[in-house]
Amino acid sequence: MSGTTRRPTTARFAVDRQYVEATLAELVRINSINPSLNEGGRGEAEIGEYVAAALGHLGLTVAAHEPVPGRVSVVGRLIGRGGGRRLMLNAHYDTVGVDGMAEPFSGAIRHGRLYGRGAYDMKGSLAACMAAAKALVDAGLPLAGELLVAAVADEEHASIGTADLIPRYPIDAAIVTEPTALSICLAHKGFIWLEVETRGRAAHGSRFDLGIDANLRMGRVLAALEQLERQVRGRPPHALVGPPSLHAATLHGGTGLSTYAASAKVGIERRTVPGETAGQVVGEVRAILDRLAAADASFDASLTTLLVREPFEVGPDAGIVRTLALAAEAVLGRQPPMVGDTPWLDSALLASAGIEAVVMGPAGTGAHAAEEWVDLDSVVDLAAVLAETAVRYCGEAG
Ligand SMILES: [Zn+2]
Repeated sequence: MSGTTRRPTTARFAVDRQYVEATLAELVRINSINPSLNEGGRGEAEIGEYVAAALGHLGLTVAAHEPVPGRVSVVGRLIGRGGGRRLMLNAHYDTVGVDGMAEPFSGAIRHGRLYGRGAYDMKGSLAACMAAAKALVDAGLPLAGELLVAAVADEEHASIGTADLIPRYPIDAAIVTEPTALSICLAHKGFIWLEVETRGRAAHGSRFDLGIDANLRMGRVLAALEQLERQVRGRPPHALVGPPSLHAATLHGGTGLSTYAASAKVGIERRTVPGETAGQVVGEVRAILDRLAAADASFDASLTTLLVREPFEVGPDAGIVRTLALAAEAVLGRQPPMVGDTPWLDSALLASAGIEAVVMGPAGTGAHAAEEWVDLDSVVDLAAVLAETAVRYCGEAG
C-alpha cells in the first residue's frame, strides 16, 4: 500500500525514499519535547546534533544557533554560484508532550504510515526538506541562488527559533512546511491575549457600606464581551479562514466568602483574521471598559495586552506561491488546492518581517493527540515538490 501507482511523472529529481524513511524514523526516535510546555522535555540539543550532522553529510554548510541555552535551531545552506534568489524551507522539530501515547518514540512504519510524536507535526516535514536538499545534491545540479533548510526550535511555545533566525539569514522567500495534506495554505488566523482586571475594595462581608465588589463589576464586562463575541462572529468571514472569534478563557476573582472581592481578572483570547489589526481589536475591548466607567463612577478596570500573534495571508500571485504551485503541478500531476488554516504558524513571523511566505506540508493526523502518524507517500511527494520549487525559484547556475 505504498502508492506505487502514484509516482510523479515529470519530476527532475529522484527522491531517495529509503533516506526519507530512515531519517524520519531517527528524528521521531529522538525525544525533542518542548521544555517550555512540559517540565523535563529534552528540547532540541540532541535532535539538533543529529540534523546538523546529517545536513553536513549531504555537503551543506551548517550552523547551529541557540536563542537560549539548550534550545537549538540548525540551518543547512546549499550555497549556489551567485545571482539567484534565496529560499528557506522551514520546519520546527520541537514537539508537544507524549501523555497517553502508546508508542511515542517508535518511528514504526505500518501500511505506508510512520508513527510517533512529531511524525506529523512536523518531523515528516523536516525529513522532506532534508530529502529535497539531498535530491538536489544527488542530481549534481548547482543552484544560482541558495536553498536553506531550517530546523527550528520552540514553534510549539513562543517561536524563539524562527524569530532568532530571521535577522541572521537574509532570504527572499520561505516555505513553512507545516502539514497541509499537500494543499497550499495561503492564510491562517492570528490571536491576541488580553487581560481585563476590575478593581473593587476589600471589606468584611457585613460591611456593604465599605466594600466595592470587583466580581460583580466583572459581570458587566463579561456581559458586554458576550455581545462583542456575537457581533465579531457575525462579521463577513475571511474567504479562507472564516470569521474572527473571542472567548473568555480564564476567570479569577475574590479571596474568600466573607470578603468583598478587591480584584477580578478575565483572560481573553481573540482569534484574528487577515486584515484585522491589534490596535483595532484592543480598541474594541477598551471601548467596553470606557462605556462601563462612564456609566458608574465606582467602575475601575484596566486592560493589558499579553501577546499579539499576527494573522497571515499571502496572495495567490506572490512569486513563491506561483512557483510552488507550478512545481507542485509538474511533480504531482494535479493542481494543489489553495486553502486557509486556523492555527497560528511561524509563517506569520516571516511575513511580518517582509519575507514572502507560504505553507505546504505532508498528510497525516494526530497533532497533539494520542496517536500520530504521517503518510510516507506524501512526505516523498513533498520532498520532490520542494526540490523542484528550489530549482525554479533559486535558479540553475550557468
Ligand atoms: Zn507544527
